Amino acid sequence: MKTTLKTDITVKDICEGFIYNELEGKGLFGLSGKLTIQPEYQRNYIYADGKRDVAVIESILKGYPLGLIYFVKVSDDKLEILDGQQRVTSFGRYVTNKFAVKDENGMEQYFSGIATDKQTRILETKLTIYECEGEESEIKQWFRTINIAGVPLNNQELLNAIFSGPFVTLSKEEFSNSQNANIQKWSAYVSGSANRQEFLECALDWVSKGNIDDYMSRHRFNTNITELKTYFNSVIEWVSGVFKDVETEMRGLEWGRLYEEFHKKAYNPNQVSAEVQKLYGDLYIKNRKGIFEYILGDSVDTKLLDVRVFDEATKKSVFAAQTAKAETKGESNCPLCTIGHDANKSKIWKLADMDADHVAAWSKGGATDSKNCQMLCKTHNRAKGNR
Ligand SMILES: [Zn+2]
Repeated sequence: MKTTLKTDITVKDICEGFIYNELEGKGLFGLSGKLTIQPEYQRNYIYADGKRDVAVIESILKGYPLGLIYFVKVSDDKLEILDGQQRVTSFGRYVTNKFAVKDENGMEQYFSGIATDKQTRILETKLTIYECEGEESEIKQWFRTINIAGVPLNNQELLNAIFSGPFVTLSKEEFSNSQNANIQKWSAYVSGSANRQEFLECALDWVSKGNIDDYMSRHRFNTNITELKTYFNSVIEWVSGVFKDVETEMRGLEWGRLYEEFHKKAYNPNQVSAEVQKLYGDLYIKNRKGIFEYILGDSVDTKLLDVRVFDEATKKSVFAAQTAKAETKGESNCPLCTIGHDANKSKIWKLADMDADHVAAWSKGGATDSKNCQMLCKTHNRAKGNR
């Protein structure tokens, strides 16, 4: 049996010539007549319940994947849907105004009534479709295999089935073998288990820069996995070379992306280690997973660390003290407005119009406590934040 991956067919293509038969409750044709949506032996359309059909449209609008769709090639220009009829019929019916979906204001909207950019987003959504070619019995047998009742295959297991061949066999020997002595080292940086193909998935994801399907399809009949192995090992060697410490938060980070971005830069592992330890000891850091990328990027992007902000009680007490003092002096309660020359020089701002600011910046060692807190008017706080 032959399977071909198609990733450029859009919702619009499928809806070309879409016909739905109300009487029979079936989506009939699409793809300009080439596609039979619900062949005789398939069950009827069951998504017309205002929930599942709506969920399909909402997924498309949010950019969520619709999942794999399987076509069977019956002849040169005839296709049938093997799996995905319900999803295809749902968007086909929506695009042809057969049902409405509530918008963000709770208003029922038909396709023809929604904004053009939303219409375009739906129509231009690309689907992931496998076209299978072979004897019917063979296809049905295969389809049963990939949908073993009760144990749904995960995405990588499914891909291994679809692209079965020498490349998958060799890859599994390396990455899906829990007896491999390297697994323990890899586990420091990669999450998941070898059995469920998660190391293989990660290795493929890194080498293909996220295009696993495409990579597997191109290498399906290769009899070596040198590139896959070399790339994976380069990433692992790089991380373990730059970071001497192994911290639990390193597991499952996007090391492939970070490798691409930073591996040409030189780092001093001892300095890096000292920096990691310092940041691990910093109670103001809420996102420890961000520490590694922060250091790789020369400790500039504090957003990665999600540094703790002042709590409401601190803000209120600092505001009260600052305002009382300002009122006795007859000047603004924003210290930066006070030294200005405009009308705001003596303006008393409301709490809601002010934001808390670190007097000494967090990155320069300033603490997130009331002693290091001052309230500024929103304009001045924003200006200071951009320095
Ligand atoms: Zn101000």
